[in-house]
Amino acid sequence: MDSMLSGEGEFDSRFEDLADGSTLPGISEGEIIVIRSKRRKKNISAYRQGGRIVVSIPARMSKADERAMVPEMVAKIRAQEAANTMSETALAERIGELLVELAPEITLRPSTVTWRGMRERWGSCTGVDRTIRISDRLKGAPDYALDYVLFHEAIHLQYFDHGAEFKELLARFPKAELATAYLDGYEAAETALAAPEALKKLLSSQ
Ligand SMILES: [Zn+2]
Repeated sequence: MDSMLSGEGEFDSRFEDLADGSTLPGISEGEIIVIRSKRRKKNISAYRQGGRIVVSIPARMSKADERAMVPEMVAKIRAQEAANTMSETALAERIGELLVELAPEITLRPSTVTWRGMRERWGSCTGVDRTIRISDRLKGAPDYALDYVLFHEAIHLQYFDHGAEFKELLARFPKAELATAYLDGYEAAETALAAPEALKKLLSSQ
């Protein structure tokens, strides 16, 4: 899942003239975590961790070099993610394939399938206009996990609730157990990384 990139320390000084403490261009607060590692001599690496990008740099790297290197590493991670992300057209096509293969009795197709920033749900389907939304947390997820959510929402085109017919169709998905384990594991990790207040609230409500 995590994409690792590393590059040698050849620096570009584009950002050196920024005043200390100013925000790096194109980066929103809290999205990037920079870790200074004593074990690193000159390598810099970056990887995605949930909603954040972690950049690990040598402990002795100068602030000016950090300003130059970090945006480059972040841009590489984003470009790699964009290349690995299915287009919305491809999502709709995949839904068609899953229905033909696993539930040919459903002939309805979504009018649109869109990526959406959703934290609480993995996907949603509005039956009346046949629109499907998929959480962008699934960008870069294993195929079986994305397929499972796509198939779940596709069944909702025909059955709006999670009744017996719905469950019977969903049970045809071959890797349901693996997919559920992935999705539950992702949510557990997100909860563990949540702000202390949010975590307390979750724990006290159990
Ligand atoms: Zn559902």
